[in-house]
Formats: sequence, C-alpha cells, structure tokens
Amino acid sequence: MNERDLRDNIPNLVSRLIQMPSVNPPGYTVNIAGFIRDWLGDLGFRSEVREYIKDKPNVIARVGKGKPVLILNGHMDVVPPGDESRWVYPPFSGKVVEGRIYGRGATDMKGGLAVIMTVFAELAPLIERQGSGTLIFSATADEETGGHPGVEALVRDGVLVGDAAIVAEPSGGFRYYIGEKGLCQVKLVARGRPAHGSLPVLGDNAIMKLIRAISRAEELINEFNRGIKLPSELMEAIKNSAEVYLEVSRGSGLNLTLSDFERVVGTVSFNPGVIRGGSKINMVPDYAELELDMRFHRESHRTR
Ligand SMILES: [Zn+2]
Repeated sequence: MNERDLRDNIPNLVSRLIQMPSVNPPGYTVNIAGFIRDWLGDLGFRSEVREYIKDKPNVIARVGKGKPVLILNGHMDVVPPGDESRWVYPPFSGKVVEGRIYGRGATDMKGGLAVIMTVFAELAPLIERQGSGTLIFSATADEETGGHPGVEALVRDGVLVGDAAIVAEPSGGFRYYIGEKGLCQVKLVARGRPAHGSLPVLGDNAIMKLIRAISRAEELINEFNRGIKLPSELMEAIKNSAEVYLEVSRGSGLNLTLSDFERVVGTVSFNPGVIRGGSKINMVPDYAELELDMRFHRESHRTR
C-alpha cells in the first residue's frame, strides 16, 4: 500500500474495530477476533484461534520460518466506557471528526491494533519472499484484567516466543520506554486475641503486630534494594531512557529528578496502600490487615 492508502485505510480500520465492543469486564472478544480473522483471510493469510477461556479467543498469524522471530502484539479488549451519556460521541461509534477518531479504545488500543494488523499485512509478503525469519501477529484477549487467558497463556504455551516483540500499547506520544515493572500486590493479615481496652495485658493487639510487620517489611525491601545489581547492558539503556522519562515528566508537571528516576527504575517500590483493623476504641483488636503494593523490576526477581 502506498502512503496515501495507508493514511485512509488505517483510520477506517480503527473505526471498525471500535464499532465492535469488547469491553472488559466481561472481556468478550468473539466478534472482534472473528473480524480480524476475516480481515487476514481476505488478504490471504491463515490465522489460528486459541481460546483458553470461553468467549475470549486470541488470534495468531505467522509467516516465514526460522530465526529471528519478531512478534507484533496488541490486545482486543477495552476498559468500560463509563457513563455513555457523558461522551461527546457515542463510545462505540468510531466517529471521525476533524481528523480525530472518537470511541472507547481509539487510543488503548484499537489504534495500535489496526497499525500492527496493517504492518503485518505489509511485511508478511516480504518476509515470505526473503525465506528466513518469522513474523508473528497476535491479537490477544483479556489484557485489561490481567491477560491470563491472553498473552500469558500464549507465552506459556510457546506460541508467543521470539527474539523481539513490538507491543503497540500506547504509553505516551511517540516514545518508547524501558523499565516496565511487574506488579505484586499482597495482603498482610495480623490476628490477635480480643480483650477489653482497660486490660490490654489480657489481649494480643493485632494492630500493633501489623505495624511491626509493616516496618519489618519496609526494612527488608530497603535491604533488598541496596543489594540489587543491575546488569551493565541494562544500565546503559536506563541512562538513555532516563532522558526521555525526565522530559515527559517535566511536560506533565511531575518534576522528577534523575535520582528519583533511578530509584524508581532500579528498585522494588513499597507502598502500604490500605490498612484496616479493629472494631472499637475500647477493645483490643484481634484483626488487622494491610494491602501492600510493590513494583518489581524484572531483574530484581532474578537476583533475589
Ligand atoms: Zn492497553
């Protein structure tokens, strides 16, 4: 396709993808997956459907053979539109107004999905002709609620394994990022023995136990962070990436410094986010809980 055709076809495709609601939850992607399969089929590409949970199919197409293997990935599901009456244009209209496409998922990420569909269609014939190297297209389900029957299952099954991947997820305008962290959320629960507040010696205070556990957990994370050694090849990438982050953060009014950035990227974050416990001021609490949010760097798992 020449540039002009691409410029017409991609927005068109984005609109059509938006018109197929795939709101998650529940994450129903049967219609949009069917559309993508037909779209690929009309262009002469075979595709495969992998469905790990009913009504949440993934679509995979692959061309070429051998290494290197490049994966193109995008998710088909979108977050809920909220109160539809507050949308200027209906969320599943895919309406194009003055050069902008409106609708749920226009950015995240039916726009990106349309682009990787097009990239696959454009590159696949070249790769087949070249005779070496593999290109995999993957439109996946359930990203917005964890991706377990989507990317995760496909990686586990060896379907999405390659040398490099381009995920067309929007992460800010025209930037690439490194240092995406893994999420680990846990609940700490402390149990004690109830007693009247006038005689705390008879009880075992769950809140006090939890507080001690939180400070100990923080100490452990700090200790762990001091011991993290990032590989030198990653350090260089972090340094290069820092400039981009800093620029973006300035633009957004965040005002991060270089050392803030290094602390964020190179370490495990520790955020006690929610705390609950106790039932009455004059009772020794027998229950307290903490919801703790930690973000891991990939490398920090490995050195543990
Ligand atoms: Zn997304």
